[in-house]
Amino acid sequence: MNSKVLYKLSYGLYVICSINGTQLNGQIANTVFQISSEPLTIAVSINKNNLTHEYIEKSGVFSVSVLPVTTPLDFIGQFGFKSGRDVDKFAGAAYRTGLTGVPILLENSIGYLEANVVQHLDVATHTLFIGEVVEAEVLGETEPMTYAYYQAVKRGLVPPAAPTYIKPQTMPTGAEGEKHKCTVCGYIYDSAQGDSASGQAAGTLFSALPEAWVCPVCGAGKEEFEALS
Ligand code: FE
Repeated sequence: MNSKVLYKLSYGLYVICSINGTQLNGQIANTVFQISSEPLTIAVSINKNNLTHEYIEKSGVFSVSVLPVTTPLDFIGQFGFKSGRDVDKFAGAAYRTGLTGVPILLENSIGYLEANVVQHLDVATHTLFIGEVVEAEVLGETEPMTYAYYQAVKRGLVPPAAPTYIKPQTMPTGAEGEKHKCTVCGYIYDSAQGDSASGQAAGTLFSALPEAWVCPVCGAGKEEFEALS
């Protein structure tokens, strides 16, 4: 069996939000799709270990925000590589409250769906939640971020809790030893590419990065990186 064929499936990239009383949480997911038109239903797969899973189970409501290609890595890091158990993901985020009480993101979103859970399916490590859509709106016309674009252009990596996570069989290595991996989220700093988002030009060695430089995905400091060689 060659599990690499799974990389050939196409996905988008979304933030799934839910609530627990007055508490808010959200996470990145790529497994969102429409199930039916009449009634309008959607499905999302969420890891059972995630706080958002707990919130959706308790409240029975969730929202889906569609990320555009312009979404910065630190936003994806905030919602995708941190846990709502450790940080308030909505601190500083622009959002409003939807019909069901769930947060609706107003930044880095080209549209949203809000749904009531009508069914759920236990799938070992994950639950597939099926929701009937009660509200939907388009917020922008920027091209949606596909998972392939995120992987290729944003050089994003998948947290191990994601349904589509495939354990790497070989570590990416640089013959020149100029790749460093974030031990928190798995992001790889490649000195050949630099980090344009924070103004680090291609060719900037890891050792030459400012001490204040942080992982563009999860915000970890330089000390959290290890050399790959
Ligand atoms: Fe990181």
